[in-house]
Amino acid sequence: MPHVVTQSCCADASCVVACPVNCIHPAPGEPGFAEAEMLYVDAKSCVDCGACVTACPADAILPHTTLSAAQQPFLAINAEYFDVFPHKDRTPLALVHPQRRLTRTGPFRVAVVGAGPAGMYAADELLKHPEISVDVFDRLPTPYGLVRAGVAPDHQNTKQVEKLFAQIESQPGFRYFLGVEVGKDVSHAELTARYHGVVYTVGAASDRALGIDGDDLPGSLSATDFVGWYNGHPDKQDLPVHLDAESIPSGRVVLVGNGNVALDCARILAEDPERLAGTDVADGPLAVLRDSAVREVVVLGRRGPGEAAFTVPELVGLMGHTGVNVVVDTGDLPVEEALAGADTTSRLLRELAGRELRPELRTIVLRFLSSPVRVLGTERVTGVEVGRNRLERDADGIVRAVPTGETEVLETGMLLRAVGYKGLPVADLPYDAATGTVPNEGGRVLPGVYVAGWVKRGPNGFIGTNKSDAEETVEQVLDDLDADRIPAPVGDAAEITAVVRGRQPGMVDLAGWQAIDREEKRRGAEAGRPRVKITDVEEMRGIAAKSRKPRYSLGRRKER
Ligand SMILES: Cc1cc2nc3c(=O)[nH]c(=O)nc-3n(C[C@H](O)[C@H](O)[C@H](O)COP(=O)(O)OP(=O)(O)OC[C@H]3O[C@@H](n4cnc5c(N)ncnc54)[C@H](O)[C@@H]3O)c2cc1C
Ligand code: SF4
Ligand code: SF4
Repeated sequence: MPHVVTQSCCADASCVVACPVNCIHPAPGEPGFAEAEMLYVDAKSCVDCGACVTACPADAILPHTTLSAAQQPFLAINAEYFDVFPHKDRTPLALVHPQRRLTRTGPFRVAVVGAGPAGMYAADELLKHPEISVDVFDRLPTPYGLVRAGVAPDHQNTKQVEKLFAQIESQPGFRYFLGVEVGKDVSHAELTARYHGVVYTVGAASDRALGIDGDDLPGSLSATDFVGWYNGHPDKQDLPVHLDAESIPSGRVVLVGNGNVALDCARILAEDPERLAGTDVADGPLAVLRDSAVREVVVLGRRGPGEAAFTVPELVGLMGHTGVNVVVDTGDLPVEEALAGADTTSRLLRELAGRELRPELRTIVLRFLSSPVRVLGTERVTGVEVGRNRLERDADGIVRAVPTGETEVLETGMLLRAVGYKGLPVADLPYDAATGTVPNEGGRVLPGVYVAGWVKRGPNGFIGTNKSDAEETVEQVLDDLDADRIPAPVGDAAEITAVVRGRQPGMVDLAGWQAIDREEKRRGAEAGRPRVKITDVEEMRGIAAKSRKPRYSLGRRKER
């Protein structure tokens, strides 16, 4: 009776070293680890000790006897990985690398800019060295980046990784400077003058455009903004999302792109709002979703089912969703032919395509071999002209979508483009406009300046992917410290606090964030929800400021 890895796996590999019989793969360093959608347990070797369950930050591993009906497909998915990669030469124990130690004596100070997963993993890795202290900056008064403002509210297990981040931020040597925007409240030069190293982990805050006529009409929105809206990102709460019958007379929303972000948006639009009400979806958006006239969400993928951009765990999650219909539309190709492949995605889509539709539910249409050609409308979006594609394999073996010339108009009041996130330039750092990243070698921009996460490698991978990514970057920091390649900073640690508070008096520290977190959870407990997100920055700063007030003494607080 093996343990099984399920949908919320974020591929951080915490379970790998916990397993006494090395049966969870691919492990870091093994082929395929960097691209793995999830990790898998080898049922033949698993001794059911449960050690991985405790190690997993996303509650992703379960004994197979406790899998729900929706999770049952993961038994086969775990097994299939070992059919393809039998790992015959695997060692019986996971390799634990000895902890590197700095050869120079500190103290050293490192600033991490961005408190998303990459920033938190980088801080954790740096703090393994007692000589290093870490100050983490974020432009929002709340940390955790896209775990808070990206991961879908109906994926609460995935958001459990916040517990791990809470442990990281509680370590000695860790300080927060939240609600402080680097490049605005404090400059790059001010940081490099005061820290031995500055690690940028600012993510990819923008998105790619479709580049077709009408894409800028009201009613055409980016998934980046839409995701931030329903997740309570303070900058996105005024997004003009109109889902009422007058704005969406056809009852249809068209979503361009069929990656995981597109599936998240489709589920949120098609979900019963009363189910969403039990999550941490933001209050304003929940009210809009409650009033929604949407009946159908059409998800356009330019290539075929075999090239779909969503991952298998996400598809299984959608299949297990009993509250929505899912239709598989393969255009001119008969479903049996289009889904004839032996791969897991085709197998799962075949199963989905055979399901009966329930008229009382909203429907998600996974429409393949389709691209938007033009957005229609004068005052706002009224439709999308969609072209059909066929597939061609080029000389390099890459399957490409080629327009057939056949088009059709889909009436819609809202178009969402989910064709990829894109990083913005970081003030005073070089920028590669094609990839939206800061050019770097293994995370080093130059000695003393580093990048990790999406700003380093582009918007791909999962939460846990940022762990190994941050480890690689921290190796460069340690190399430069050991080789004495970084000029010693001029100011002291207390000075940066004064500088930042002078510019941004509403700066939020660890105690301030913990006060916001407690208040959100308190409001959540009253409403039977995990938390009620506060979306107003000034309200957050106010709650944090109260946590700073001395209770028994009017004496000055001592800054470290
Ligand atoms: C919609 C969506 C859903 C996802 N769902 C999942 C999922 O279910 N499971 C999974 O494993 N992965 C998921 N991912 C992927 C995962 O969220 C990313 O891999 C991860 O968040 C990238 O981490 P990061 O730290 O590089 O960037 P981010 O998480 O974006 O963090 C960047 C941080 O930098 C801050 N920042 C930006 N500019 C500045 C500045 N100038 N000064 C100070 N701070 C700044 C931002 O406020 C932010 O907090 C999802 C991604 C998206 C977009
Ligand atoms: S239950 Fe034990 S043996 Fe099985 S995968 Fe988890 S840690 Fe490994
Ligand atoms: S989230 Fe991490 S610890 Fe949990 S199963 Fe996935 S790789 Fe293992």
